[in-house]
Amino acid sequence: MRRLDLRKTQAARLNTIRDINRQIVLNYVREREPISRAEIARETNLQRSTISAIVEALTAEGLVEEVGEGESTGGRRPTLLRLRTKEAIAIGVAITPTCTTVATSDLAGRIIEQSEFLTNPDPEKTLKAVVDLVRDFSAGNKGSIEAVGVSLPGLVDPATGNAVYVPYFKWRDIPIAKIISAAVGLPVVIDNDANAVALAELWFGRPEVSDARDFILVLVAEGVGTGIIFDGQVYRGQSGAAGEFGHMVIGTHAPVACSCGNRDCWEAFSSERAALARYLKRSEGKGPAPASFRELVDQALAGEANAKAALVDTARCLGVGISNLVVGFSPEAVVVGGEIARAWSFIESAIKETIERSVRGGLPSARILPSTLGEEPVLRGALSLVLASKFAAAFAA
Ligand SMILES: [Zn+2]
Repeated sequence: MRRLDLRKTQAARLNTIRDINRQIVLNYVREREPISRAEIARETNLQRSTISAIVEALTAEGLVEEVGEGESTGGRRPTLLRLRTKEAIAIGVAITPTCTTVATSDLAGRIIEQSEFLTNPDPEKTLKAVVDLVRDFSAGNKGSIEAVGVSLPGLVDPATGNAVYVPYFKWRDIPIAKIISAAVGLPVVIDNDANAVALAELWFGRPEVSDARDFILVLVAEGVGTGIIFDGQVYRGQSGAAGEFGHMVIGTHAPVACSCGNRDCWEAFSSERAALARYLKRSEGKGPAPASFRELVDQALAGEANAKAALVDTARCLGVGISNLVVGFSPEAVVVGGEIARAWSFIESAIKETIERSVRGGLPSARILPSTLGEEPVLRGALSLVLASKFAAAFAA
């Protein structure tokens, strides 16, 4: 049972119940589309007239649309409903240490247009390029874009919209949301990349992840980040900085320095950079070195022994950190995201064996899964920052 937080809870208004029912109907359409009003009534026990009124309001707001007719179970064939997909409503901006991707999507998270450029370490240059693309996409969609979601590889304060610290570029205290919003005239939401991907798994991932109320997303990229989903929402901690497990100490003499400078952090053992360093050490400069982590994964999938071994060693270190999280949080699942998830067929056992060794007998273990978001999880995360707010409960629970 949850203790009421009186700072966040408003006394129940008449509208509260209406808001709750509205979000329930909208989420039935989202998860079960195409679905009829009668099916929603059967599932929810809401009155048919209540559902019809809600559907009418959702249609007027451009969230839901009618799509053909379903099978008749006796009388008239029922009209089916789905999320409206006619137009782009969100822009996602995924800023990563290497490249920045900007894309539009519809309400269901389907990507419509996409463009990318190399991230410039100078924040002014990168933000100018972002603003130019957002303006182009926004103008091309004639007013249908409602907001912009931005994900960043660093410490972010979603409440102020500031990038507090992005280690790769040494960006400090940059009011990213304010700068983009002022230039494009749209609301801008920002978050850390791992939190954004965790949010995308919760709302747009496959059911094996999205049905969990408590899970941890481990994003392996240039660094290692974690997003914690607790009771169906992102857990942020007191100042929004929760989830900095990339810097937990798991050993000494890591193959690379962590983004914080130390050589004992989880990230220094388990990041893409760590895997590339292991490959170079193993191959001793023989043969062409992979130009990127993506190429290393491709080589491993093609059967190259050193590439495979470098990934398996990295997966073992990943497993050490994950086992600490499993012991401490006892989540339903831990989801591994990033390019490394493509190599799941041969890193899975290395991760799981490490976890099984360290999770004590009798303690519940968690399901360990690869990301279910497909290509470009970070971009899907940036888009979710806008889209999830459409479906989430707008009321304090
Ligand atoms: Zn560190």
